[in-house]
Amino acid sequence: MSIFHTEMVNCPACATPVPFKLVYSVNADRRPDLRDAIVAGTFQRQPCPSCGTEFRVDPEFTYMELRQGLFIGVWPVAKRGQWQACAEKTSETFEEGLGKRASPEGKKLGVGIEPRAVFGWPALAEKLIARQAGIDDRTLELAKVMTLRHSSETPIPGRRELRLVEAGAEDFVLAWVRPADGQVEKAMRVPRSMIAEIDAEPEPWKAMRQQVGEGLVVDFQREMLAA
Ligand SMILES: [Zn+2]
Repeated sequence: MSIFHTEMVNCPACATPVPFKLVYSVNADRRPDLRDAIVAGTFQRQPCPSCGTEFRVDPEFTYMELRQGLFIGVWPVAKRGQWQACAEKTSETFEEGLGKRASPEGKKLGVGIEPRAVFGWPALAEKLIARQAGIDDRTLELAKVMTLRHSSETPIPGRRELRLVEAGAEDFVLAWVRPADGQVEKAMRVPRSMIAEIDAEPEPWKAMRQQVGEGLVVDFQREMLAA
């Protein structure tokens, strides 16, 4: 079930308290429209009735789309410094509902699902886009590292992250985004063949794949982002 609770949130522009239907849980198997809105960047975005400024609230909810094998703990950007603790909480929620401590029905539903934890809207949209495009999220992180080797730019904790924003048959788009509002600063088109190359030549990438795939936060920027 998708769950919302209305709470008062202060408009970031004029500080007017605004009633906001905050999300606590998304079941995208039943509400594919919510999945599409997350990818489009329109989910949980609403205008302030007083000044008209559109704003989003830093997310904190559970995203489930079991048909796609997705169980994601979505955490606010503000908590990225505590990524290990947040990942641990997501892991516990998963184990109780769909994992080791779940009912027999829950266990059945959870077979083959690897839970993830992400921080902020762009990091969530990235996981959904990658899964839809059939790109393993570990491979995606390696592709980012590979792309950065030819670039002079680096992520800035909490200010600028490298995220997948689009994936087509021939290429995909990595962009520098502001995690707070998903604003794209600069986008790079990368050939899809890079993913195939990384998958075909696992040996040189083995150690890094293992490192990036360890735990629920599959994000090469996780330590950097905690700074
Ligand atoms: Zn306002």
